[in-house]
Amino acid sequence: MSKHFGVIGAGIAGLTAARRLRNQGHSVLVLDKGRRPGGRTSTRSMDGLSFDHGPPFFTITDPMVRAFGETSGVFSCLEAWQGRFARLEAGRLVPELPDPPRLVGVPGMGTIGQRLAQEIDVRVSVHVNRLERSAGGWTIIDRDGSSYGPFDALIVTAPPAQAAALLREHSELAATLEPIPMAVCFSWMIAPESRTALPFDGIRCDHPVLRWASNEQSKPGRPDSPALVVQANHTWSEAHRDSDPSEVVRLLRLAVEESFAIRLGPPRLESLHRWLFAQPVEPLGTPCLIDPDACLAACGDWALRGSIEGAIQSGFACAQTLMEALA
Ligand SMILES: Cc1cc2nc3c(=O)[nH]c(=O)nc-3n(C[C@H](O)[C@H](O)[C@H](O)COP(=O)(O)OP(=O)(O)OC[C@H]3O[C@@H](n4cnc5c(N)ncnc54)[C@H](O)[C@@H]3O)c2cc1C
Repeated sequence: MSKHFGVIGAGIAGLTAARRLRNQGHSVLVLDKGRRPGGRTSTRSMDGLSFDHGPPFFTITDPMVRAFGETSGVFSCLEAWQGRFARLEAGRLVPELPDPPRLVGVPGMGTIGQRLAQEIDVRVSVHVNRLERSAGGWTIIDRDGSSYGPFDALIVTAPPAQAAALLREHSELAATLEPIPMAVCFSWMIAPESRTALPFDGIRCDHPVLRWASNEQSKPGRPDSPALVVQANHTWSEAHRDSDPSEVVRLLRLAVEESFAIRLGPPRLESLHRWLFAQPVEPLGTPCLIDPDACLAACGDWALRGSIEGAIQSGFACAQTLMEALA
């Protein structure tokens, strides 16, 4: 029998779960506090340039994820990034081959969430504040006091601490979610005034300050103008989480200039983003959490792997397990 599901969070996990439920004949409403679907898989547009300030690319190794993307058509916005890649190790740049291929959304990583959200009822700019259960089912109440529902069951896909806050009153799932640590990560977006570029298009960094750096213009479908994204090392980001943003930028600039032997000069534009829940420090190791008595479930990249692929695996498993539990 068809059921009505509420999904909190329109990131990759929530949208995957919603698609799976809808494909099995259920009705689904997805709510997200952000301005567009996609969650952390997002693209920042500034002055005609685009910066993937969350995940710079993703890879697929699981045949289930590949089949899900291909049969649903949601991966038709993906292209392989034919860039020059390297890793920074002990101060040296070592070229590396992208194996498996590094996939990017075109024209930006944010397109992946928009594509997944097609044909799904997704409402954005809805900040869920609390959940209520009555004989009729679950009701979701947002910060403005508007309510949504009733739903037969809910899936919460917010990062662990935020999901725990919503579930605490209703389920012991909160106790499992609460201690899952998420890493902080600074992403610095910069458009240099000159045609300055990094020596490689994508650089994984084993460095005390840097984690990743990329020439965004080398990705398919991007404007042909220098646009760099630099991610800070997670441990360093944690140590600087409350530092003055201008000091964070100064230190990142120094590290980039020293490590890659380039001069960035005064930027045409720049912006710093602090991800408080960038990726799980150590995922839980189980695909999702289900409380069948309460008709509640939780999923996200914190479950299996801190990646887009891990979020798809978790969302898919969560929808499947919840449907079986309620059947
Ligand atoms: C800097 C950085 C680098 C990364 N690098 C890579 C990489 O190289 N490769 C890779 O595959 N992955 C990478 N990732 C990880 C990848 O982005 C995530 O694994 C994936 O996007 C997680 O999806 P999700 O659906 O689990 O969570 P999210 O994308 O966080 O989705 C959760 C959603 O819940 C919403 N939400 C939260 N609370 C509420 C509320 N109260 N009410 C309404 N909505 C709410 C949020 O707005 C969000 O949209 C990176 C991430 C970051 C930040």
